[in-house]
Amino acid sequence: TPADAANVLRHGASWLARDPRRLSPALLADAFRPVAAHLRRAPAGLRQFVDGQLLIAAQTTSAHANALYGAAALDLPRRGIVHLTGGMGGLAATLAQAIQRHGGRVLYRQEASRILRQPRQPIIVATKSGGRFTADVVIANLTPWNIAALLGDDLPRPLRRLPSQPRTGWGAFMLYVGLDEQAVPNGGPLHHQVITGEPLGEGNSLFLSLSPGWDANRAPDGQRALTISTHTELSPWWQLFHGDRAAYESRKRQYTEHILAAAEVALPGLRDAARLILPGTPITFQRFTRRVWGWVGGFPQTSLFQAWGPRLTPNMWLVGDTIFPGQSTAATALGGLRVAQAILRSTGQPSPRPQAAPPVHQLHPSGD
Ligand SMILES: Cc1cc2nc3c(=O)[nH]c(=O)nc-3n(C[C@H](O)[C@H](O)[C@H](O)COP(=O)(O)OP(=O)(O)OC[C@H]3O[C@@H](n4cnc5c(N)ncnc54)[C@H](O)[C@@H]3O)c2cc1C
Repeated sequence: TPADAANVLRHGASWLARDPRRLSPALLADAFRPVAAHLRRAPAGLRQFVDGQLLIAAQTTSAHANALYGAAALDLPRRGIVHLTGGMGGLAATLAQAIQRHGGRVLYRQEASRILRQPRQPIIVATKSGGRFTADVVIANLTPWNIAALLGDDLPRPLRRLPSQPRTGWGAFMLYVGLDEQAVPNGGPLHHQVITGEPLGEGNSLFLSLSPGWDANRAPDGQRALTISTHTELSPWWQLFHGDRAAYESRKRQYTEHILAAAEVALPGLRDAARLILPGTPITFQRFTRRVWGWVGGFPQTSLFQAWGPRLTPNMWLVGDTIFPGQSTAATALGGLRVAQAILRSTGQPSPRPQAAPPVHQLHPSGD
C-alpha cells in the first residue's frame, strides 16, 4: 500500500542517516542483483553450501535469489536457532493461548468453505460444518489459489491475474522418522544439510531436523523424532497419483530409499535405528494442510519488486508465506505483524507496543 511504501522510505532514510557510509552503490545494486554476484570467486563447496541454505530460506539458489533478501536469509541461522518445547505444536498452542487471552476465540476443525462479499455489507465466512461468521475485516492465512477457490467468481483484482497453477515454487518430499536415540551422536547438531549432487532438490539436497534430547514431548522414551525434507517438483507426483497409482507408490519408495541412504552421511546407522518411517509427498501436504497441489514455501525470492501485496480489498487481507518476506516461522510472523499494523492504521487505531519475549524456559538454543 502507499502507506507501506512511505513506511519503508521513512525507515530506510533514518537507517541511512545513522551512518552515511551505508549509502553505498553496491548496496543499491544488491536490491536488483542476485546473490551470485558475491560468489564469483567463491570455492565450489561454499557456493553449494550457500545454495543449500538459500533453497530452504529463499526457495531458490544463488543464481536467482535477490542479494538483499539472501543476505537477511543467510543471517538468520547465524543469529541463532531456538527450539520451543513441543516443537511446532508448542508454537501453535502459544499463539492460540495469546488469542484467547486477548478475548478471541479459536475454533478447531472448522474448514472455511466460502467467503461472501456484498457491497457495503460485512463479509460472511461460511464453514463446511454450517457455520456463518460475519466480519468487518477478513485476514486469510491461505495461498492465493485457496482464497480464490473460496471466493468463487467474485475475485478482487489481484486474484484475477492468477495463473491456473503456481508457475514457480515447490513441493516437498518428506520423511517423518522415529529413531532410537543411540543413533544420534551425543551433543551433536540438531540440523544437517546434506548435498549429494546438483541440481539441488529431488533427493540431491536434504535438510534434517532432529528433536532435542531434552524434549520428552516429541518422541517416546529413548527415541527421537527426525524430519528429512527435499524440494520436489509438484506435477510429476500429481500426474502419477492420478494416472498410475502403482508408479506413484514406486516413486515414493525410491525417494524414501535414496533419502535414507543419503542421510546416513549425517546420521550413520539411521536405517537400522529407524522404528517408524512415514513418507509424505505433495499429495500428503494437500491432504493435511489443504494447500492447493501441496505447494509450499511461497514464491521464490528472486526480486524485491514482484512480491504479492497483502491487501486484496480494503477489508480483505492476505498473510502467510505468499506475502513478503515469504516463508519460515520468522518471515510469516514478520509479514503478519506488518499486516496487523496496516489494518490498525487503516482503521485509525494505535499500534500496540511490542510484547515482551516469551518466558525463557520455553526457548532453548539449538543443541542437545
Ligand atoms: C518441509 C518443510 C520444512 C520446513 N521447515 C521449517 C523450519 O525448520 N523452520 C521454519 O521456520 N519454517 C519451516 N518451514 C516453513 C514453514 O512451515 C512455513 O513457512 C509456514 O508453515 C507457512 O505458514 P503459513 O501460515 O503461510 O501457511 P500454513 O502453515 O500452510 O498455514 C495455513 C493454515 O491454514 C489452514 N487452512 C487451509 N485451508 C483452510 C480452510 N479452508 N479453512 C480453515 N483453515 C484452512 C491449514 O490447515 C493451515 O493450518 C518448512 C516448510 C516445509 C514445507
